[in-house]
Amino acid sequence: MVREKLAAAAHARAVSRLAPGSVSFREPTLELIQETSVNCPYCGELIDVLLDRSVEDQQYIEDCQVCCCPIVFHVRITASGRCTVEVRDENET
Ligand SMILES: [Zn+2]
Repeated sequence: MVREKLAAAAHARAVSRLAPGSVSFREPTLELIQETSVNCPYCGELIDVLLDRSVEDQQYIEDCQVCCCPIVFHVRITASGRCTVEVRDENET
Protein backbone atom coordinates (compact mmCIF):
# COMPACT_ATOMS: atom_id res chain seq x y z
CA MET A 1 0.00 0.00 0.00
CA VAL A 2 2.70 2.45 1.04
CA ARG A 3 4.83 1.23 -1.81
CA GLU A 4 1.99 1.98 -4.26
CA LYS A 5 1.62 5.49 -2.88
CA LEU A 6 5.32 6.11 -3.30
CA ALA A 7 5.19 4.86 -6.86
CA ALA A 8 2.26 7.14 -7.59
CA ALA A 9 4.10 10.11 -6.08
CA ALA A 10 7.18 9.32 -8.12
CA HIS A 11 5.04 9.10 -11.24
CA ALA A 12 3.40 12.44 -10.45
CA ARG A 13 6.83 14.04 -10.04
CA ALA A 14 7.99 12.60 -13.33
CA VAL A 15 4.89 13.88 -15.11
CA SER A 16 5.18 17.36 -13.63
CA ARG A 17 8.85 17.48 -14.55
CA LEU A 18 7.95 16.65 -18.16
CA ALA A 19 4.99 18.98 -18.38
CA PRO A 20 6.69 22.26 -19.39
CA GLY A 21 8.31 20.63 -22.42
CA SER A 22 5.48 18.34 -23.34
CA VAL A 23 3.72 20.71 -25.73
CA SER A 24 3.65 18.90 -29.05
CA PHE A 25 2.92 20.04 -32.56
CA ARG A 26 1.89 17.80 -35.41
CA GLU A 27 4.43 19.45 -37.67
CA PRO A 28 7.16 20.92 -35.49
CA THR A 29 9.39 21.88 -38.40
CA LEU A 30 6.79 23.97 -40.21
CA GLU A 31 5.77 27.51 -39.46
CA LEU A 32 2.24 27.79 -38.13
CA ILE A 33 1.64 30.99 -40.05
CA GLN A 34 2.06 30.66 -43.78
CA GLU A 35 1.95 33.47 -46.29
CA THR A 36 0.28 32.90 -49.63
CA SER A 37 -1.30 34.82 -52.47
CA VAL A 38 -4.85 34.52 -53.74
CA ASN A 39 -6.87 36.22 -56.43
CA CYS A 40 -9.69 38.40 -55.17
CA PRO A 41 -13.05 37.00 -56.39
CA TYR A 42 -14.33 40.55 -56.88
CA CYS A 43 -11.56 42.52 -58.56
CA GLY A 44 -9.20 39.69 -59.54
CA GLU A 45 -6.15 41.34 -57.99
CA LEU A 46 -3.51 39.12 -56.39
CA ILE A 47 -3.45 39.76 -52.66
CA ASP A 48 -1.19 38.44 -49.91
CA VAL A 49 -2.80 36.64 -47.00
CA LEU A 50 -1.52 34.91 -43.91
CA LEU A 51 -2.89 31.44 -43.19
CA ASP A 52 -3.07 30.05 -39.71
CA ARG A 53 -1.99 26.42 -40.05
CA SER A 54 -2.81 25.58 -36.45
CA VAL A 55 -6.47 25.08 -37.37
CA GLU A 56 -7.28 22.21 -39.74
CA ASP A 57 -10.48 23.61 -41.18
CA GLN A 58 -11.49 27.22 -40.87
CA GLN A 59 -13.61 29.77 -42.65
CA TYR A 60 -13.41 33.50 -42.17
CA ILE A 61 -14.01 36.78 -43.92
CA GLU A 62 -11.27 39.26 -44.69
CA ASP A 63 -11.61 42.44 -46.73
CA CYS A 64 -9.73 42.64 -50.01
CA GLN A 65 -6.68 44.91 -49.72
CA VAL A 66 -7.47 46.41 -53.13
CA CYS A 67 -11.26 46.76 -53.45
CA CYS A 68 -12.20 46.29 -49.76
CA CYS A 69 -14.91 43.73 -50.55
CA PRO A 70 -15.43 40.96 -48.00
CA ILE A 71 -13.73 37.78 -49.24
CA VAL A 72 -14.72 34.44 -47.72
CA PHE A 73 -11.62 32.35 -47.01
CA HIS A 74 -11.88 28.61 -46.52
CA VAL A 75 -8.57 27.23 -45.30
CA ARG A 76 -7.96 23.53 -44.92
CA ILE A 77 -4.99 21.43 -43.96
CA THR A 78 -4.89 18.21 -45.94
CA ALA A 79 -3.87 14.85 -44.51
CA SER A 80 -0.44 15.28 -46.07
CA GLY A 81 0.04 18.57 -44.25
CA ARG A 82 -0.50 20.81 -47.25
CA CYS A 83 -2.40 24.01 -46.70
CA THR A 84 -5.11 24.80 -49.22
CA VAL A 85 -7.17 27.95 -49.42
CA GLU A 86 -10.35 28.66 -51.36
CA VAL A 87 -11.74 32.13 -51.80
CA ARG A 88 -15.20 33.17 -52.90
CA ASP A 89 -17.36 36.22 -52.72
CA GLU A 90 -19.70 36.58 -49.81
CA ASN A 91 -22.91 36.20 -51.82
CA GLU A 92 -21.88 33.00 -53.58
CA THR A 93 -23.72 29.91 -52.36
ZN1 LIG B 1 -10.63 42.91 -54.52
